[in-house]
Amino acid sequence: MQLLVIEDNQRIAKSLKQGLGESGYAVTVAASGAAAREAFQRLEPDLIVLDLGLPDVDGMELLKELRQQDPAIPVIILTARGEIEDRVAGLDAGADDYLVKPFAFAELVARIRALERRGTRPVPDTITIEDLHLNPVQRTAERGSNAIDLTPREFDLLLFLAQHTGENVSREMLAREVFGITSLAVPFDNIIDVHISNLRKKVDAGFELKLIHTVRGVGFEMGTRL
Ligand code: CA
Repeated sequence: MQLLVIEDNQRIAKSLKQGLGESGYAVTVAASGAAAREAFQRLEPDLIVLDLGLPDVDGMELLKELRQQDPAIPVIILTARGEIEDRVAGLDAGADDYLVKPFAFAELVARIRALERRGTRPVPDTITIEDLHLNPVQRTAERGSNAIDLTPREFDLLLFLAQHTGENVSREMLAREVFGITSLAVPFDNIIDVHISNLRKKVDAGFELKLIHTVRGVGFEMGTRL
């Protein structure tokens, strides 16, 4: 497992390299966007830990750029501040998870392990719900004959709902299973609601048959009933 840690703070970078190394990962540190691009090409890493505040490039732009080259690579964002809007923007730009500095090292390792497990989960070819088709391998979605343009996070959400069609899915389940949030110290319901709202616009808007439903007091349910 090759990790690329993109972090310009030398002290943090050094402790991450050492700690993650001791946890059994091969770790390369890049201290700038330029170094990150170079290392990304050379190493083809399995997972990226990305500090958003870099000296030469906006972390969010770098994230988009790397995602274009490897749409499936797991990315964990490190942010200095815990602004909800920043988080949502980061997740929409294609991050799989984020940690707000200062964070506990054990928490980072737990998030990495969670993303590792997700990556190795066996997945079926296609999931079909009425006229919605999901391909978990190619990570594509279609409604009718139209491709739906989803962010990585939206796709994960839709896939999870689809895999639990006809079942009530709570926000807590989504936080844990899709976002890898295990600590309830972070208010996360709003973030999930924003993502679900965006997902609905893309999946259900304009269709008479709605597939994503709110279950009052519980969460959400995917299906044709209700
Ligand atoms: Ca920084």
